[in-house]
Amino acid sequence: MRKFLLLFIFCSQLFISCKKQNNCEIATKSIQLSDIEKHVKNLASDKFMGRKPFSTGEKLTLDYLENQFKKIGLKAPVNGKYIQEVPMVEIKMNPSEKMIITKDGSRLELNYQTEFVAFSRKIEKESFIQNSDIIFAGYGIVAPEYNWNDYANIDVKGKIVVVLVNDPGFGTEDKSFFKANEMTYYGRWVYKYEEAARQGARGCIIIHETKAAGYPFSVVRNGAVIPKLYLQDKDGYKNRCDLEGWITLDAARKLFEFTKTDWSVIDKAKVSDFKAFDMNARINLDIKKSFKYNKSYNIMGLLEGTDLKDEVIIYSAHWDHLGIGPKLNGDSIYNGAVDNGTSLAWMLEIAEAFTKLEKKPRRSILFLAPTAEEQGILGSLYYVQNPVFPLSKTVANINNDLMLPYGRMKDIMVTGYGQSELDDYVNKLAKKQDRYVLPDPNPHTGMYFRSDHFRFAQYGIPSLFVRGNCDSREKGKEWMAKKEKEWLSNNYHKPQDQYENWWNLEGVVEDSKLLFELGYILSNESKFPKWNSNSEFKKIRDLQFN
Ligand SMILES: [Zn+2]
Repeated sequence: MRKFLLLFIFCSQLFISCKKQNNCEIATKSIQLSDIEKHVKNLASDKFMGRKPFSTGEKLTLDYLENQFKKIGLKAPVNGKYIQEVPMVEIKMNPSEKMIITKDGSRLELNYQTEFVAFSRKIEKESFIQNSDIIFAGYGIVAPEYNWNDYANIDVKGKIVVVLVNDPGFGTEDKSFFKANEMTYYGRWVYKYEEAARQGARGCIIIHETKAAGYPFSVVRNGAVIPKLYLQDKDGYKNRCDLEGWITLDAARKLFEFTKTDWSVIDKAKVSDFKAFDMNARINLDIKKSFKYNKSYNIMGLLEGTDLKDEVIIYSAHWDHLGIGPKLNGDSIYNGAVDNGTSLAWMLEIAEAFTKLEKKPRRSILFLAPTAEEQGILGSLYYVQNPVFPLSKTVANINNDLMLPYGRMKDIMVTGYGQSELDDYVNKLAKKQDRYVLPDPNPHTGMYFRSDHFRFAQYGIPSLFVRGNCDSREKGKEWMAKKEKEWLSNNYHKPQDQYENWWNLEGVVEDSKLLFELGYILSNESKFPKWNSNSEFKKIRDLQFN
């Protein structure tokens, strides 16, 4: 009898797991190439005018996504609405043409745009910097987990700090020292400006270097000369610096020469006994500002869970792109088909698959299309500051951006590999699709901090940015490397990022299936995936659970 009973238990367990499997597999079938193509073609058509915030293109995009959410059967989670208002302020900066540096009665002039750029998000008409002391503060980093504090020995209150881009691990191979050549969050400009403000500095100037930054100075300059968007802040950013700027490497050499600072301190800044020091010189600069207030919208749809419906998994893909801009090869509509039409289609197909589950997931699933990613990852920042579910109940974020149309891939590239336990889920599911996990081959560029998943990470939520990208199943790695390079130089952030008939979106289909299943597994568990111990975001998450 007992044997029969055991056999019965065994069989019924087998039955449950098969049933669970079927539940997932049947739902996966709704992920269709034709649907993905249809969504991309629509969202990247000229009619949407490049999906820019505050434009008619925004209204059309939000309507399209809302209709899809309704059609799929998702709920409106923001007080009965699908949209979340995101109040923003556009700041037009007019810095003085010269940054003037003085020392012992002599002066050095740096030129706006070719040698320096300067911003200030403080809601004041003018940031007037007069004779402020300059401190060289190495990398400008306070990282207790690496026992590192560039501000340890010096008071920078009211002063201007000059810091290096990236982090001390850049160009090294010792994985225990920061993350060696992989950029940590401490290497990003976002962090450096925030830390300088926390230290009470009046300003922070970053020394640019193309390889360490991951992009040339022209990218910094182009971003600086157009009006910049920020979220509206109730305190008018009064706690931020009066000056957030960059100087070129050549301008930094001039500054070092002028202040008789030995260039070798650049290398010394990489060593743990480095100490910040006063350059015994002063900065003069004036930034005049004008402000325009406007609002854009995040849009989201919710699939409610069952017994754990208070907990949520968030899929995200930004809806915005660059709108209408300078004409290039006869075209002025920046359609944003790859950036980020393909990922929007990816998210819509995953959402549909979730609604096809016979047995609903235990946890809730939120599908979020943030605004203004292209303007500084603002919509997702607003979301994490005003979340629909508490952050401590937010299990994970699965984001996508720039999914390329070159067919099925052998790899599944994990940007920010090693950050959290979510990697284990990707590993398992990659094998199932006969693929392999590939950590980002260019981790020094800090891509993990450059799309919406970063805002979730910054606020402690384990986040994934994952897609097939590097190894074509049919044509291999070299071919794909060539295609990616071509795409980046001919199409990225250009009107030529548009839907073409030769596109092959089979890879997006496969990624959708993989990441649907990943969310499905998470949605039926009760544990919370953790950050790894060397992650710079772990301490933020730990605070949410205490
Ligand atoms: Zn994008």
